[in-house]
Amino acid sequence: MVFKNYIGGKWVDSKSGATFESINPANGEVIGVVSKSDATDVDDAVEAAARAFPSWRKVPAPRRAEILFRAAQIMLSRKEELSLLVTREMGKVIKEGRGDVQEGIDMTFYTAGEGRRLLGSTTPAELPNKFAMSVRDPIGVVAAITPWNFPIAIPTWKLMPALVAGNTVVFKPASDTPVLAHKLVEILEEAGIPGGVLNLVLGPGGTVGDALVSHPKVDLISFTGSTAAGKGVAQKASEQLKRVSLEMGGKNAIIVMDDADLELAVDGIIWSAYGTTGQRCTAASRLIVHEAVRKELADRLINRIGALRLGDGLLDTTDVGPVVNASQLDKIHGYVEAGIKEGANLLIGGTICDEGDCAKGFFHKPTLFDNVNPNMRIAQEEIFGPVVSMIAVSSLDQAIEVNNASRYGLSSSIFTRDINNAFRAMRDITTGIVYVNAGTIGAEVHLPFGGTRGTGNGHREAGQAALDIFTEWKSLYVDFSGRLQRAQIDLDS
Ligand code: NAP
Repeated sequence: MVFKNYIGGKWVDSKSGATFESINPANGEVIGVVSKSDATDVDDAVEAAARAFPSWRKVPAPRRAEILFRAAQIMLSRKEELSLLVTREMGKVIKEGRGDVQEGIDMTFYTAGEGRRLLGSTTPAELPNKFAMSVRDPIGVVAAITPWNFPIAIPTWKLMPALVAGNTVVFKPASDTPVLAHKLVEILEEAGIPGGVLNLVLGPGGTVGDALVSHPKVDLISFTGSTAAGKGVAQKASEQLKRVSLEMGGKNAIIVMDDADLELAVDGIIWSAYGTTGQRCTAASRLIVHEAVRKELADRLINRIGALRLGDGLLDTTDVGPVVNASQLDKIHGYVEAGIKEGANLLIGGTICDEGDCAKGFFHKPTLFDNVNPNMRIAQEEIFGPVVSMIAVSSLDQAIEVNNASRYGLSSSIFTRDINNAFRAMRDITTGIVYVNAGTIGAEVHLPFGGTRGTGNGHREAGQAALDIFTEWKSLYVDFSGRLQRAQIDLDS
């Protein structure tokens, strides 16, 4: 069986008939043979979405939302099947696979509720016998381009708000997780999404993604992925003045103050840095540690890191799964070598694991560096793997300065028992998300999600903020005076 594109309400092979394989990163198992599309398939999908838009936008939003409610219920009933597939196709351990799917369910239920809100505003008009209000209008055809690290959750962050707001969608998932994307679209089809409203095109970013970004009938690109690819998307889209929302890389830090509960901090660090094998946009990859507790924290971390078990994420005994593919593994290990070369002190890990439970997949040992200078590459660039850099500081001010001196600005956390430190950090940290006495991960779907600086271009996903990406404001004035009234001018007469 070949996993196909979904265009105009039909499952179709790519026009060229080309295919590629989706591989389990833990053991090389082939998860599925998948259609490999090109610009001609993109053209069909965009045309289908453009044709479906005029009628979909007129379906009352509460009716659109009913389809999302049904989709969330189907996801819930298939949670375990989907979670196992997340682990097999992407590699994260099964409890995190369940978390990924649950986040998708939460987002779908939450967004379905927007069908009965989609709030605009009414406000007084400045002239008598005149009524003023603003409403949200859908934008048109949305291209949703997603990464592999949250293969169910992230697509729901884009598809659900786009659809409930009345847009039609062409969905291009990451080439590492196409089978999960197929499953999600199957679920929306079963929930009753009309033909052409949601389309799926599977294939490489350089071809399918690029064709979507350039297509004149795509009105909005919602992209999550690397900063390098996101920049290219924004440049290309700007030629046609398209709307673009970008969610990109992170270089997130945990600050540990000298008054912190160190055991709690260690729990937060292990979860944030090595959970999902460090492949979260919000993963902690810098520890900014008060020098008074640096040695003790390092010793405790080395103990805990040394006990982490690598292996297939389907096994209950596994703490850390594989990285997603061979090129990510090379990239991660390249950063470890760069760190050593730049003079950082390797405390534990630092090697690729290719024996025992790791023999058939792409595994890197959880790694911790000490004596890291904030300007080193391992402290500045996104590694997207289980590699953490410890930087010593001597005050909260210095900690915040180091935290903020990053080209990225997604998530930060501080461990402290001092309420004044906590509030100063909340005020002065300049990332889009800040946690106090928790790690850098754990976003909830009803709050805005996104980052500053190189992480994004000013938008926020999730919560009601997502609607600002997927709608345009329309201001409506109704004059019931029966005569011509002139704003700003009649006030003087
Ligand atoms: P990526 O390589 O940039 O790919 C992301 C998506 O873009 C994939 O679907 C990819 O397709 C596609 N793509 C690649 N080149 C393209 C092009 N020229 N034009 C249009 N689309 C293109 O990123 P990734 O490796 O999948 O994901 C990891 C990155 O995502 C990390 O940097 C991480 O921080 C970031 N991320 C950010 C957030 C956030 O909310 N801020 C959340 C999760 C992940 P192919 O897969 O076919 O190459």
